[in-house]
Amino acid sequence: MEIAKELVLTLKQNNKSHVGYGLHKECEALVGHILQNMVRSQMPSLHAVMKNEEDSIRYREEGNQHFVMGDDLDAIECYTLSLAYANSDKLMAYAHANRSAALYRKQLYKECLIDIDAALSHGYPKEKQRNLKNRGDKAIAEIKKLLQSDSGDIDHQKDINKSYLCNNDIERSIRKSEDAERIDNDTIENSREIFKKQGRIAENYLYYAVKIPQGKPRYLEKEDFTKLTYGPSREAPAISDGVTVSFSERYGRHYVATREFKPGDIVSIEDPYAHVIYEERYYTHCHYCLSRSYNLIPCPECPIAQYCSENCRKLAWESCHEIECPILKLLKNLLNVDKDKIRMISKIIRLLIVVTENGTKIKELQRDMKVAESNSDNRTAGFTDTGILDSFSSRSALSLATNMTTRPLIGISAFACISALAVILLATQTKFFPKKYEIDDLEDISEFSELKFCASIMFRACVIMSSNCFSIQQEPGIVSGSGLYVAHSLYNHSCAPNTFRHFEGLTMITRALTPIYPGDQVFTSYGGVYAHMPRSERKQKILQDYFLDCDCTACKNNWPTYNEILRDHIGSISKDKKLVEKLRPFREKLLANMYDIEAVKAVLDILYKEVSQHPCEEILHAEQYLKSYYLAPKRC
Ligand SMILES: [Zn+2]
Ligand SMILES: [Zn+2]
Ligand SMILES: [Zn+2]
Repeated sequence: MEIAKELVLTLKQNNKSHVGYGLHKECEALVGHILQNMVRSQMPSLHAVMKNEEDSIRYREEGNQHFVMGDDLDAIECYTLSLAYANSDKLMAYAHANRSAALYRKQLYKECLIDIDAALSHGYPKEKQRNLKNRGDKAIAEIKKLLQSDSGDIDHQKDINKSYLCNNDIERSIRKSEDAERIDNDTIENSREIFKKQGRIAENYLYYAVKIPQGKPRYLEKEDFTKLTYGPSREAPAISDGVTVSFSERYGRHYVATREFKPGDIVSIEDPYAHVIYEERYYTHCHYCLSRSYNLIPCPECPIAQYCSENCRKLAWESCHEIECPILKLLKNLLNVDKDKIRMISKIIRLLIVVTENGTKIKELQRDMKVAESNSDNRTAGFTDTGILDSFSSRSALSLATNMTTRPLIGISAFACISALAVILLATQTKFFPKKYEIDDLEDISEFSELKFCASIMFRACVIMSSNCFSIQQEPGIVSGSGLYVAHSLYNHSCAPNTFRHFEGLTMITRALTPIYPGDQVFTSYGGVYAHMPRSERKQKILQDYFLDCDCTACKNNWPTYNEILRDHIGSISKDKKLVEKLRPFREKLLANMYDIEAVKAVLDILYKEVSQHPCEEILHAEQYLKSYYLAPKRC
């Protein structure tokens, strides 16, 4: 262990850079040493978790108990578990059928019909089908009722039908029907024809299932969320051209505005380079797209990964799950490894899979690392050959800040051990490397340069991901997973940020919360905003998680929390009669409709021009209105 300590110290001392590059040799020496020790010592015994009849039945019975008690959501989750563990068609049919009952009662008619269809196609016993079909008929009747109340006249109905067909859901549901032809026509009638051809019109559950439209957030009605204010920047296309990448010793890499942004303007739009679902969402959210789903379908090989659609299941298998599947089965039963470490193992394996394109580009990555390491400029570290900080390039992703100098020794050693374990699992349990090894084959690790290289990439992934990942919240307050957003990682933290973010699927959209002027640094929040967390608490959190002693305006001036501001009317403009009068028409508009976004923007514009003291009660209110326009639960 002494040697390991030496190596960690060397790593910390040699680290001159703010970014990830420049330490590859040291990383590989450290992880290589630990890896060598690990393969020669007793490996923990590995037990894969498997699908099995006993667990499937147990979860179904648990679901039944919840159903009887009226806890439909718990029942749905238990039936999803029952389906996940089912190892026969019969068990799958039962799980789908029982789940359809809870879905029906929860008024999730679309999901109910899809499950009824699945139960039948898995051979749900003939003698029990009557109940199931009755439920199907009732669900169809409910859908018809919904559609009728939705449509005023025939033309309107036509439009609706058209838009249903544009909906991704139709594609998902159609694909669920294994023998369905792909629908590429644009009327509902055509899909009816297809089902007719298949002789399924008597059981046209899917036909009705696809008719339910998906809820859309409010802002999508008026705005194209894919458009950055001022268009994309040349250097970092995920960021607006009104912002530039800067570097300073004090702030590291960060963003500075070169043009003005108004509240609500889009500063960056980015998809994750790599992302993972959190374990606590395994049976409520899709393992691939992370969306909430009430009728998840399982990976055929493991009881861990569930998907919202056939499409996600297929894409996941091709892009990463084929490698991850055998490992996830083992991680579930890995003794003596705590939850955080297991989460980190799944994150770094995912990142390794993405940067090496499923292990096919290891050599290319090795070559590219040399090019990347040779760039000693902090500002442009990880830029591609064409001079771009690219959200989808391995070079850019591996250039993100590591905080290596400020990390405690123990943390670095733990990451090195996790990475060594992860590479052993990949080498012995999967086909990631050209050959699947036995642990005894790896006796002398110096002979396996690819393994050592991949372990060191995963070690780097540990430090990068622990400092740069953002939680993914597709619904307010529900964190479903975590993603590495390359360009977004360059935002610095403030407890009173001038931006806020929301998600459209996995896409992270960052908008100005306050007016931002040329020369201003653009901040995000890493967690812990002054309004919701007292200073001492959030400062400690930011220090612990990001090694950052926050000196933002809110921390420096010890701003009160939201509740204190409301209670004591801090910074209130209510005594300024002229200003109150000026705001009155917008206030009235907002009282009539809290989602009148133009009124919100006008209020913020006036307040920011007139108010010099911060925080200000009314500004805080108006910012809440702005956020809720983009963050409020989706509308049906
Ligand atoms: Zn999905
Ligand atoms: Zn699997
Ligand atoms: Zn702060």
